[in-house]
Amino acid sequence: MTLSQGRPYLAIPGPSVMPDRVLQAMQRPAPNIYAGELVGLVDSLLPDLKAVARTDGKVAIYISNGHGLWDASLANLVTPGDRLLVVSTGRFAAGWGDAARAMGAEVEVMDFGLRGAMDPDRVEAALRADTGHKIKAVLVAHVDTATSVRNDIAALRRAKDAAGHPALLMVDCIASLGCDPFEMDAWGVDVMIAASQKGLMTPPGLGFVFFNDRADTVRKGLDRVPLYWDWTPRTEAELFYQLFCGTAPTHHLFALREALTMLVHEEGLPHALARHATLARCVWAAAEAWQAGGGPLLNIADRGARSHAVTALNTVSAEDGTRLRDWMEQQAGVTLGIGLGMVAPGNPEWHRYFRIGHMGHVNAHMVLGVLASIQAGLVALDIPHGAGALDAAARVCAGASG
Ligand SMILES: *Cc1c(COP(=O)(O)O)cnc(C)c1O
Repeated sequence: MTLSQGRPYLAIPGPSVMPDRVLQAMQRPAPNIYAGELVGLVDSLLPDLKAVARTDGKVAIYISNGHGLWDASLANLVTPGDRLLVVSTGRFAAGWGDAARAMGAEVEVMDFGLRGAMDPDRVEAALRADTGHKIKAVLVAHVDTATSVRNDIAALRRAKDAAGHPALLMVDCIASLGCDPFEMDAWGVDVMIAASQKGLMTPPGLGFVFFNDRADTVRKGLDRVPLYWDWTPRTEAELFYQLFCGTAPTHHLFALREALTMLVHEEGLPHALARHATLARCVWAAAEAWQAGGGPLLNIADRGARSHAVTALNTVSAEDGTRLRDWMEQQAGVTLGIGLGMVAPGNPEWHRYFRIGHMGHVNAHMVLGVLASIQAGLVALDIPHGAGALDAAARVCAGASG
């Protein structure tokens, strides 16, 4: 007997749950890709994307996943031999750094480990030490999806200012946009990247590079930029065709239109952010109760450094994370995220780790359902855990503090 029949729930940190309305918006024939309705639709996306990013800068849209955005952003700014500083708190900023290295950049990685946020004082010291201002850009993930840490980007910018360093500040918001508060202009971020399949509730395949004038000045100073990645024709197109350097991603655009209507015009960004904050506290309240009784450990101990989009945990006994994930999928119809970047590939410790995605189109019954299913899994598999987790989560949803 299994209890998994019913609507499956992919509770991983991306791709996130797509609203039925978003999927239905794609159920139609392709339109003219040179003129007409699609042109106006794309025009309508730009102000909404910028509203979510909280910027008056520009946005280039790519047919790409997140990894492609690493290349897209770097290709406009970096030439072989340029020095970059990567602020690493997990897997993802380091991945961006690897992409830069593959382009011939000299990449220095400041590693802040896997259990907490970056320390702005250390970054400030590193930038002060670069008296010749050789570091061209600082790369950081707002939320690192592997560790579920959230970095304080405003503090990072203050550190850069305190050091009087002119480097560009480049931020990966692929996991956080639409989930954790982010203020591109107010925080002085020069380049920000985001993808469609996480907080933006759209199928994987669209990517966004937001940039300001300072970054664009650096772009204009480069001798050459690969044509496909060049953001200039994508933001200053004379013909619609140039916006996508070829065929427009028609159905993804319909999907994104619907998702942005829901996020920006119906729910509203402030409400969506507040919903994510409350549902994240709901997850934490349950997880803290399990942990208090010898259950799975929250990867990030400091609540103030935890993301509102994803929560990473690890079980006390090395094989229990995989046992729990398998039970959840087979018996409850819920797929949890695997551990990422916590140990080297092939290390049996890997089976400890699991992640809960709570980004995008999630509500109280979905999050409470995942938590209650985990509770059932812990009982079924005889994995130690503290009592009262579901009561604690319910109290958060009921509006009590916790
Ligand atoms: C998901 C994610 C990526 C990678 O995106 P892909 O679409 O899988 O290539 C990069 N950075 C962060 C912070 C992410 O969460």
